[in-house]
Amino acid sequence: MNLILFGPPGAGKGTQAEILINKYNIVQISTGDMLREAQKDETDLGRKVASIMAKGELVTDEIVIGLIEKKLTNDENEIGFIFDGFPRTLAQADALGNLLDSIGQSLDHVVELYVDDEKLVQRIIGRFTCSSCGELYHKITKPPKNEGICDVCGSKDKFNFRQDDNEDSLKIRLLAYYRDTSPLIGYYHVFNKLRKINGLGSVDEIQNKIRNFIKKKAEELKLDFFDLIKQK
Ligand code: ADP
Ligand code: ZN
Repeated sequence: MNLILFGPPGAGKGTQAEILINKYNIVQISTGDMLREAQKDETDLGRKVASIMAKGELVTDEIVIGLIEKKLTNDENEIGFIFDGFPRTLAQADALGNLLDSIGQSLDHVVELYVDDEKLVQRIIGRFTCSSCGELYHKITKPPKNEGICDVCGSKDKFNFRQDDNEDSLKIRLLAYYRDTSPLIGYYHVFNKLRKINGLGSVDEIQNKIRNFIKKKAEELKLDFFDLIKQK
């Protein structure tokens, strides 16, 4: 099964993806994580990516599609993938269709998590993670019980703030989402792949809604005229 988790920054894609990969035994592909990993290399590419991401702009299609191509061809025997933060442009969406085709797979679902802007800003400004175990915190809504110490793994002073989780970068990230990425809602709608889910609610509630969508057969959702479109 191949699934895209779609939505603005802060919608909860990463959180839901992590639960889904364990349930369905599929591989998570987060281009954000892959690009943050690429920054660790002291290469020209790493430095270029770091400066684009810190500003909140999109990394070029060429770089991102190149990373995905490598990953999919390496892992072509996996039973499926969950894409989180990819595709983000129409060119990336087309490339994904072709790449899945080339490894004999296809896209099953696109889940859109929608959350209003005000809530996204609240969630993102002030969030941080434990770099040892990955637990997510928030200054106001979920501070650690003891300052500086992770509730889950007990690590001390290992908290990590993302460089692009500041107001200026977030504005640009949201703009990039509405300008470049949100047209994909229409794109996947005509392929009859899109399922919309309200991203406000508990992690479990949203997880259950996603699983219910996955269970529904495509036929139940299909409208006649979609048959006219060749599905990728
Ligand atoms: P978020 O969804 O919260 O913005 P991500 O980790 O998905 O977080 O992305 C962080 C940054 O990484 C983006 O602002 C962008 O600079 C870069 N990035 C991630 N995925 C892509 C992509 N598919 N295409 C272009 N840039 C990307
Ligand atoms: Zn921890």
